[in-house]
Amino acid sequence: MSNSPVSGMHWGIDIGGTTTILGYLKPGGFVKAATLKTDPSSGPDSLLRKISKTIDEIDHAPCSAGVGIAGLVNRSEGVVVFSANLPGWKDYPIRCKLSTILNCPVVIDNDCSVFAIQAIESSSIPDSGLWLMITLGTGIGGTIIHDGNILYGSGFAGEFGHMTVEASGKNCPCGSKGCWERYAASGALSEYYRKHGNNSMCISPKEIAQLASMKQDAALKAFKEFGTWLGIGLANLYHCFSPGGVFIAGGLMGASEFFLGHAESEFNDRCRYSWNVNVLPSSSDAGAEGAAIMGRNTKQNIADLENDNDTDSM
Ligand SMILES: [Zn+2]
Repeated sequence: MSNSPVSGMHWGIDIGGTTTILGYLKPGGFVKAATLKTDPSSGPDSLLRKISKTIDEIDHAPCSAGVGIAGLVNRSEGVVVFSANLPGWKDYPIRCKLSTILNCPVVIDNDCSVFAIQAIESSSIPDSGLWLMITLGTGIGGTIIHDGNILYGSGFAGEFGHMTVEASGKNCPCGSKGCWERYAASGALSEYYRKHGNNSMCISPKEIAQLASMKQDAALKAFKEFGTWLGIGLANLYHCFSPGGVFIAGGLMGASEFFLGHAESEFNDRCRYSWNVNVLPSSSDAGAEGAAIMGRNTKQNIADLENDNDTDSM
């Protein structure tokens, strides 16, 4: 981390359910400036105050700010519509609030998209063809990438986690039931472990991975069930998009050796596409860096538009 004063930087902010990471772009790379505790119970205004205070201490005149946030995001309005991990943020106009405090343009997107933007910029995702990006964690995030650009449809494309995989399945906080993320995200893995281990112990995915590495039967079975559901959803996505491949990131991918093979086998039973699923290396700063790149690109687009208008009026 570097907290030496700078000026006129493009800032990126990645707001997660437990931590918020912020930093800025400078020639040669991304500089992480701070990691803040998100504390959902104290609400969005309190977190924005902490963010703006941190930025102001380092940069009095930020050039732009990009924000990635876990949840359903209305990009054109700059509003967080709903976030399962941040209950106090429903319909929160984050772009308006933050651009007023920071006095610079602010652009927002969901956490999977900003991760994808970083992966495109660093050439981890190819800049031609159609690709899908997925984040596996407490939920399942999704992004559709075509020729290096993100496809949004009418605004919200990529909500793969809420694709129905079981018509009369488990209820989901989104209001539907049988959503993919109720079967192939971290909560489901813990549930499978309890079922196969025949106990009520609450255990984290990391602990289940440790037990799987010691070949514990319940842990291996939990990962098998998890991988099977992952494969079902991936086959659905291939049928819909016929992508060149899929990139998966997120905390659960550290244990991919225990479930990706099961996902592939289920996938091969359900479709005729060639399995091309890649694990993206995890970096905790990638989301904030992608958000900063998104802010920089938006600022550049605004400048280009203004130049075009100036030229037109001459
Ligand atoms: Zn849902």
